[in-house]
Amino acid sequence: MNFNGKISVVTGASQGIGEAIAVELSRVGAEVILVDIQEEKLEDVARRIRDNKGKSYTFCADVSRMEQVKEIVEKIIQDHQKVDYLINNAGITRDRLLMRMNEEEWDAVLAVNLKGVFNFSKTLIRNMINNRYGRIVNISSVVGQTGNPGQCNYSASKAGVIGFTKSLAREVAPRGITVNAIAPGYIDTPMTKGLSESVKKAFIDLIPAKRFGTVEEIARVAKFLLSDEASYITGQVIGVNGGLFM
Ligand code: NAP
Repeated sequence: MNFNGKISVVTGASQGIGEAIAVELSRVGAEVILVDIQEEKLEDVARRIRDNKGKSYTFCADVSRMEQVKEIVEKIIQDHQKVDYLINNAGITRDRLLMRMNEEEWDAVLAVNLKGVFNFSKTLIRNMINNRYGRIVNISSVVGQTGNPGQCNYSASKAGVIGFTKSLAREVAPRGITVNAIAPGYIDTPMTKGLSESVKKAFIDLIPAKRFGTVEEIARVAKFLLSDEASYITGQVIGVNGGLFM
């Protein structure tokens, strides 16, 4: 696969799945615009990409804040004129049973995981429509498909991402733009590092593949959905979950 000259925006790119997607895209020639809420970690990823002769640029923004998203998208378009790929990956958890979940925990998760997807897609879609080309990949989750106790906020946000993906896919398909979602299962990242060994073991017992996935296993699917090979795939949810949900 050759992504030379493709301008890609990856949100939540400083670690975990976002970092792996950014590194993989740069490896096949894409120019990668890394977006995250913390500057320091972003620079480390950008350095890693540049050390491997890739091209990357960093932008610090909170994806849930429309004014910040607009500001950086304006700069990106000024510098590059176009964006070919958008990977909406930034996400957070604030897990608690609904009985104990407070409004802040609900709002924070919905704001980053769902409104963040709206903010970036809305701000970039006109550019893609004008170019008659674009690929959007949204990172949902298996729990958006199955639900999970303690994650009413998170699973609602991720189910929302699936509905958003399908609606936008229908809107922009005639303009040469595809919109798909990846629904990862349990993946080894800083997000899942906090799980206790007993909880991890309980999850692994439920996963037919008997292990957590790796960030590279998600990055390779994202790369495929962005590639020309996937030009007739849109509005789909690709489960990458070791068989946890089928
Ligand atoms: P992660 O390691 O926590 O990385 C998420 C990144 O997003 C972090 O760098 C985080 O920055 C950044 N971020 C958080 N809030 C942000 C905001 N408001 N604006 C910009 N950046 C923000 O998570 P991950 O495991 O790689 O997850 C990536 C995506 O996959 C998420 O959408 C997650 O829900 C989804 N997912 C993960 C799993 C899994 O098992 N890991 C499974 C299914 C789906 P800070 O660290 O500085 O907050």
